[in-house]
Amino acid sequence: MLELHTEAKYVKGVGPRVAEWLEQKNIHTVEDLLYHLPFRYEDRLNPRGITELRAGEMATVIAEVRSSAVFHTRRMPIFQMVAAQGRASVRCKWFHGEYLRDRFKPGQIVALYGKVDKEWKGKGLEIVQPQFEIIGEAEELDAEDPSEIESLEVGRIVPIYESAAGGKVTSRWFRRIIHSALQNLSPTLPDGLPPALCRRHHLLDRRTAFERAHFPVAGESFTDLMSSRTSAHKRLIFEELFFLEVGLELRRRKLRQSTGISFALTDSVREAIKKILPFHPTAAQKRVLKEIAQDMQHPAPMRRLLQGDVGSGKTIVALQAAVIAIENGHQVAFMAPTEILATQHYLSARRILEEAGYRVVLLTGSLEEERKRNARRHIAQGGVHLVIGTHALIQEKVEFSNLGLVIVDEQHRFGVMQRFKLMRKGAAEPDTLVMTATPIPRTLALTLYGDLDTSVLDELPPGRTPITTRSVSDQRADEVWQFVKKQVAAGRQAYVVYPVIEGAASDHPELELPGELKTSKSGLKAAMHMYDELRKKIMPELRIGLLHGRLSPDEKDHTMRRFKEGEIDVMVSTTVIEVGVDVPNATVMVIEHAERFGLAQLHQLRGRIGRGSAKSYCILMTGGKVSPEAERRLNEMVRTQNGFEIAELDLEIRGFGDLGGTRQAGMPTFRVANLLRDRKLLELARDEAARIVDRSDPEVTEVDHRQIMKHLKNHWQRRYGLVEVG
Ligand code: ADP
Ligand code: MG
Repeated sequence: MLELHTEAKYVKGVGPRVAEWLEQKNIHTVEDLLYHLPFRYEDRLNPRGITELRAGEMATVIAEVRSSAVFHTRRMPIFQMVAAQGRASVRCKWFHGEYLRDRFKPGQIVALYGKVDKEWKGKGLEIVQPQFEIIGEAEELDAEDPSEIESLEVGRIVPIYESAAGGKVTSRWFRRIIHSALQNLSPTLPDGLPPALCRRHHLLDRRTAFERAHFPVAGESFTDLMSSRTSAHKRLIFEELFFLEVGLELRRRKLRQSTGISFALTDSVREAIKKILPFHPTAAQKRVLKEIAQDMQHPAPMRRLLQGDVGSGKTIVALQAAVIAIENGHQVAFMAPTEILATQHYLSARRILEEAGYRVVLLTGSLEEERKRNARRHIAQGGVHLVIGTHALIQEKVEFSNLGLVIVDEQHRFGVMQRFKLMRKGAAEPDTLVMTATPIPRTLALTLYGDLDTSVLDELPPGRTPITTRSVSDQRADEVWQFVKKQVAAGRQAYVVYPVIEGAASDHPELELPGELKTSKSGLKAAMHMYDELRKKIMPELRIGLLHGRLSPDEKDHTMRRFKEGEIDVMVSTTVIEVGVDVPNATVMVIEHAERFGLAQLHQLRGRIGRGSAKSYCILMTGGKVSPEAERRLNEMVRTQNGFEIAELDLEIRGFGDLGGTRQAGMPTFRVANLLRDRKLLELARDEAARIVDRSDPEVTEVDHRQIMKHLKNHWQRRYGLVEVG
């Protein structure tokens, strides 16, 4: 009998070799295996006879491979495979299908799913680019009981799994071993969810949920299956979110009880905050500062998330918070995601704070050792008030004499589930302020950011004119360059952004967006090359700068400074300028190959302009083929400038996984839940979790409580590494 914690290698059909392959996918136990849920399903309830196929319909066909070959037409290579049922046969076609060359062997049984069409030439039918699965090898068929294959592969809704070990463990393999695991699974599984809760929300028991998620019962809605909305999915998702939320809630409680610093907001502190302001704060800035100041006065450590669209003026609010801490005799750490950004924050902090007598140091990896050592010594001795640097550096290496406030500039990155481990001598937990440019709904924020309260800067500083955004093909590049020249002649500056530094697109897999058409190797314009073109041919009369990630930090710094001081007219760059760079006189943002960028990235880039009072222009230039997805992104960029809308859309299109820094930042990886899709369940799980921790649910017994904590301890600490159960 298998238990959930039984090692996967004891499942019938798994053997040591497969077990090793499964390990590569982090599948160690029966439980891990069962959580390897199908990523889609195929309706093979009524596979069609080839003779019954009709042009225009979507159909599933189970047939035997007869032959296959690659044909070269003048336009492209086409792979063809003929599959048959007895004497009836159907042709399948894959454009550019050379990669399929050795996939099929005569005699194999395949399941095909796709659109039936009239043959292009000839009068038969064909299926173009079908999804397929080889469900039986010719030689295997004799050896095994065909009825077993039959029952798992055909005549039902079939689960389709992501393969493992580079395709060695196929979807079909998973189907069999998971089926075997379920058949030999102990009839009662330990369940951490209180029975009362399951009853209240009509949740299936765990075992049934696993069974039905893998092998749906007859009559299950196919749409529900595909969108993970069946009662089996609901049970598994709820469970996952529930324990996460219980863990987070426990952490929040613990934090609230721990001792932090209670900063005083005396008249002289108020005076000091006002004195550093270079402009009148917006009403939103005032409101948010008040929220922060309240937290800081409170003895419990502050955990606050400051959301504000690009350009909403988060920095000055953060610096004001810093002044509160400094005036109370504490040090402040200001962490930025990139060196460029750290440097920029450093420059503006110095401008704003040094005049008032505060000492600010920069700490980035690229500084000379000597300078870093010096900085660290001064920090440790308390001679420095504000330390600005990159996340990693400050987090790992710096010892503070009296750290009181940590400011984290996340920009559009997500998730700080883990606590910032900062070396410090002081006993009290410092306050934390996290800034992000991605507005996210509260429940999500609470989960992504664990224990943070949120403040929102929902107002742009005055005097901003909306940015005009256009999307044009680079066939009109001449006009665009003319426009840039005109703007420069009027005293403005411009950015021109490229997706790559140099060379071929294939060197930059990170640029492959989902559903993106691949451009040929030489099809991408690169920053280095265009820098030369612009400088020598296109606008030789202008001063052109170049900025990219491979420059040394000193060079980057120098170039940025010259741009800021107006000594460079046009800055050619890669996306290194995407985050936070602030030059109000720059009014033009030209993005070449805009079809290559994600929405969040485009929005960030556009956020570099429209920072002064002069009218700004964002020109999205496309080069070559634009996929429908890219078209949609560009249209959205032209349509709206609202960061909230864009962020939601981006999440919808790309999900969380793709957003920069998610993994590193300690976001939990979910097995079944998807925070966007399952927002409703997340809210439910959170409410129930709060009631559990409060012990305010009369139906939940003491035994249930112990059960929950035990479950958390056993499972979730290891998985999420974030639950410190008291
Ligand atoms: P972000 O929220 O994107 O970090 P910043 O803090 O960089 O935005 O601010 C964007 C620009 O707006 C900066 O040039 C900043 O000096 C300016 N700014 C911020 N607040 C105000 C204000 N209340 N009045 C005028 N300008 C402001
Ligand atoms: Mg900023």
